[in-house]
Amino acid sequence: MSTIASRLFPAPTSATARIVLAAIYAFSYVALDWISYFQPILKLGITPWNPQAGLTFAYLLWVGPRWGLVTAAAAFTAELLVRGAPANPLLLVMSSLWIAGCYAGAAAVLGAQVANRATLGLLPAVKFAAIAVLASLLVASGYVALFVAGHALPGAAAAGGVLRYWVGDVNGILMLTPLLLYLRQGGRGFAALSGRWPEVLAQLATLALFVWLLFGIDVSDDRLRFFYPLFVPVIWIAVRWGALGALVAALAIQLGIAIALHDAVTEAPLIDLQILMLSLELTGLLLGAVVTERASALHRLAAGEAELRAVLSAAPDAVITADPVGTLRTGNLAANQLFGMDSEVAAVSLHQLLPGLQLDTDNSRRTLTATRLDGGQFPADVAWVSLDPPAHPGWLLIVRDATERLRAQNEAQERDRVMARAMRFAVAGELASSLAHELNQPITALVSYLRASQIMAAAGSDADDRLAGTLTKASNEAIRAAQVLHRLRDFYQGSTSPSARADVLQCCASVVELLGNRPQKQGVQLSIESPVAVPAVQADRIQVEMVLHNLISNALDALSATEAGKVLVTVSKDSGRVLIGVHDSGTGVSEDALPQLFEPFNTTKPDGMGLGLAISRNLVRANGGDLLYRRSSRLGGACFEMQLDAAPRNTTSPQSGEA
Ligand code: ADP
Repeated sequence: MSTIASRLFPAPTSATARIVLAAIYAFSYVALDWISYFQPILKLGITPWNPQAGLTFAYLLWVGPRWGLVTAAAAFTAELLVRGAPANPLLLVMSSLWIAGCYAGAAAVLGAQVANRATLGLLPAVKFAAIAVLASLLVASGYVALFVAGHALPGAAAAGGVLRYWVGDVNGILMLTPLLLYLRQGGRGFAALSGRWPEVLAQLATLALFVWLLFGIDVSDDRLRFFYPLFVPVIWIAVRWGALGALVAALAIQLGIAIALHDAVTEAPLIDLQILMLSLELTGLLLGAVVTERASALHRLAAGEAELRAVLSAAPDAVITADPVGTLRTGNLAANQLFGMDSEVAAVSLHQLLPGLQLDTDNSRRTLTATRLDGGQFPADVAWVSLDPPAHPGWLLIVRDATERLRAQNEAQERDRVMARAMRFAVAGELASSLAHELNQPITALVSYLRASQIMAAAGSDADDRLAGTLTKASNEAIRAAQVLHRLRDFYQGSTSPSARADVLQCCASVVELLGNRPQKQGVQLSIESPVAVPAVQADRIQVEMVLHNLISNALDALSATEAGKVLVTVSKDSGRVLIGVHDSGTGVSEDALPQLFEPFNTTKPDGMGLGLAISRNLVRANGGDLLYRRSSRLGGACFEMQLDAAPRNTTSPQSGEA
C-alpha cells in the first residue's frame, strides 16, 4: 500500500531498529505528557494541550497501525509516572487500549485515504484535519465515558472533560504530526530559508511581540481579545512558507502560551485559548496547503515550459508562432537560422517569409516558395495549425527547407525518364537490327532474282525456260520476307502458347518488386487486394507482368507528385475469368479522350510515346483476354481491368513462357 506515511516515513527495516524506535517513541510520549500536564481535571489525563497525541499519530503513520500496542503501553506508563495512577489499574489499562485503538484505526484510514502525496496539498490537508478531528473526538468521548463509568469522574464533568480532552488532542495532532512527518523527510524545505532570513526574523519578531501582547499586559479581565492579532503573523507565514511554516508558527505560539501559563494554573482560561489555537492552526494548515499546492503547480508548469523550450530549440525544423494577422510572435533557433533572422522576430510578418501562404484550416500542408530576410528564396514544406484559447489566438507553423527533398525527387524522376528512354531505344534498336538481319537475306536474293529475270526476259534472249524458275524463286524469297515480318509482329504482339499459365499474385509481387521504391518516393500508397485462393490464368507470365507494370506506371504518373495518392490492385474471380483491376485516386480519363484511349501514339505526357495501352491491350487479347477502362468505384480515378481466362486445373506447362 503506497500511502503518505509510507512515502514520507520509510518504515524501519530491522527488528532492532523497530524496537529502538518504539522505545524512543514511548519515552517521548511520557515526557511530552509530563511537560504538557497542566490544568488537568481531577488529576486525570484530561488536559487542554496533548502534544503526545500528535507524536502518536506520526509514529503510527510511520511504522503502521499494528504498533498500536506500544502506544497503549506508553499511555499506561504515563498514567503511572505522570499522574501517579489516578484510578484503578483496570480502568487505566482499558483507557490506554482505547486511546491506542482509536489512533491506530485513524492511522490505517489516513494511510489508505491520503495516498501518493508527498506535499501537503489542500485535499490531503482537509482529509488529515477531518480524520484528526474525528479520531480525537472518539478518543476523548471513550476516555471520559470509561472514567465516568468507573466512578473516577463525576457525570457532571463529562461534557467539559470531553471538550477539554478533544481540543487538547486535536491541537497536538494538527500541530505536531505534519511537522514530524516533514522532519522525517530530512527537512529539505529549510534550504529555502537561506537568503530570506530578514523576512524570517521579522516574522518571528512579530510573533514574539503578539505573544507578549497576549500575556505581557496585565488585563486579566479579557485577555483573549489580544489573541486575534496572532492571526496576522500566522497568515503571513502561511502565505510565504506554506502549511509547515504556519504549523511551526503555531507551535511557537503554543510553547509561548505553555511557558506563560505554567505557573498561572488557576487564573488563565487555557481551554478557551486552546480553542482559539485550534482555529489558528486550522486556518494556517488549510491556507498553507493552498499555497503549497499553488507553488507546486507553478513549479510543474515552469518545469514543463523549460522542457518545451529545450525541445523547440533542439528541433531541426523551424517552429514559428504568429498572431491572427500573421505577425511573428516567436521563432525557435531553427527558424532564425532558416530565415536568417536574429532572435528579434517581432517585426517580421508571415507574408514576408512565405508570400504564397494562405492560412485556411482546410488545407494545412503545402510546399511553397519561402523568402529569407536577405531576399534569398528556397522551396519549403509548410504545415500549420490554428491556435485557439487558452493559447494566444493565432497560428503555429512548422517549416522545413524542401530544397534537398525536391532535388532528390527530381533526380529520381530524371533517372526514371532516362531509363525509360534508354529502354525504348534498346527495344527499337533490337527490333531494327533483327528486322535488318532477317530481311537482308531474302531481299538480296529477291533483288538478284528479279535482275536475272530482267535479263532473261530481254529481247533476243533464249533463256525462257529458266525465267519461270527464277520468278518462282523470287516469289519464294518475297514470301520468306513476309514471314519474317509476320514472326516479328508476333514477337512484338506477344502471341502465346495456349498452354501458358501464370500465377496472378506472383505476377503482382514481381511487378511491385520491379517498381522498387518509386511509389514511396512519390508518397503513393500502393496496395494489393485479393481473395486467398486465386486460380492461375491462361496467359504468359512475362506478358501479364508487362501489362501490369505498364498499368501501375500509368497510375503513378496520373497522381501528382505533391499529393498523397493511392493505387490499388484488385484480383477477383468472375465465373471462368480472373479480373485484375488497377485503380488509382487520380482524375481518371476524360470523356473526350476515351475513344482514342487504346489507340497507338495517343499520349498526354510530354515525354510519352502513347504505345503502352495499345501494346497492353494487344498482349492481353493475344492471351485470349481483354483490357477495359472504366472509372474506379473504389478510388474515384481510373480503373483498367485486365480480364483473363482461368487456367484449367490440370495444366502442367511451365510458369513462364518466352514470347
Ligand atoms: P504513355 O504512357 O506513353 O502516354 P499510354 O498508352 O500508356 O502511353 O497511355 C496513353 C494515355 O492514356 C496517357 O498519356 C494518359 O493520358 C492516359 N492514361 C493512361 N493511364 C491513365 C490513368 N491511370 N489515369 C489517367 N489517364 C491515363
